[in-house]
Amino acid sequence: MSFNNILGQERAKKILINSLIKGNISHAYIFAGPEEVGKKLTALTFAKALNCINGKEDCCEECLSCKKINSLNHPDLIIIRKGDENTKINTISDIKRDFGDEDKDKESKSIKIGAIRELQRRLSLKSYEGKKKLAIIDNAEDMTREALNSFLKTLEEPLGETVIILITSNTHSLLPTVVSRCQVIKFNPLSDEHIKEILIKNYKFSENDASTLSSLSKGRLGSALSMDYESFCKFREDALKLLGSSIKGDLEYVFTESKRLSSDKDKLPQFLDLVADLLRDAVAIKGIGTDENVINKDVSDKIRGFSDGLHIHNILNMVDSVQQTKSLLDRNANHQLAIEVMMLNIAGGYR
Ligand SMILES: [Zn+2]
Repeated sequence: MSFNNILGQERAKKILINSLIKGNISHAYIFAGPEEVGKKLTALTFAKALNCINGKEDCCEECLSCKKINSLNHPDLIIIRKGDENTKINTISDIKRDFGDEDKDKESKSIKIGAIRELQRRLSLKSYEGKKKLAIIDNAEDMTREALNSFLKTLEEPLGETVIILITSNTHSLLPTVVSRCQVIKFNPLSDEHIKEILIKNYKFSENDASTLSSLSKGRLGSALSMDYESFCKFREDALKLLGSSIKGDLEYVFTESKRLSSDKDKLPQFLDLVADLLRDAVAIKGIGTDENVINKDVSDKIRGFSDGLHIHNILNMVDSVQQTKSLLDRNANHQLAIEVMMLNIAGGYR
């Protein structure tokens, strides 16, 4: 996947390609932007171009170095990210194992100092075969304060032929002293049109499916690709039915469903996001009168159905209620109670 195949990040690509042409490579970059818009892909492409045996301003995809990076198996490429034991790469799990970090939790939510110390050790070794030694830290915002402070020391020392790329969707959670030592490259959300084009061109989706998925993906290619469309539709039907029942005041259904939903804690945040999207879609339909800015275009009739007779300010109050519920759940409120109160607010907001 050379730079030509990365769609929709023209500015970021232009900066990186120019620096490759001029040989003016920074020691540390921050690739900042929303989740799943191509930051990781661009980081790996940049890593390949830097070490490609044949290319200079892009990668050839043919040489041994490109192939090794594609299989995430290049000895000079270190990737750190939150626990993931299923990949062969130098993940944080390997590093934890090497370093004896006690945290065995696969879903570990942070990148700890042990991982950064191991990164420093590996960076201090001579490169095996590459022109550059490369470190990619994914979800850099998940570094603990200790890890960040330790990482700062790495940036303060001469880095030789090392290039470090921090990937983040939240630059503000990095230390200002870290940010100021890196070249920040901004990534934008992809347009629906770009996502649609990528789905058709690179993943052979039909025009129709690509259209629906691109609109649901909210500018994130990764979510379009990882979406299980059938289960999503089922999930959305549940959300539409619950909204409809709540607005109609069918409290028996609301209580039964709230109980069922709150028992699946992992899916609850996703469910609330979906409810908020459907309500925002209702606002968009009421406001503009067309489906132009609607995410769930394929069910716009149903959205019209549940929102018929509601005023925009009623619906906006409902969106607020959903957001409040999300923050309550983040603070470990009782799930069932929080959902019931939210649905009652939605029911009451109409009356
Ligand atoms: Zn190559």
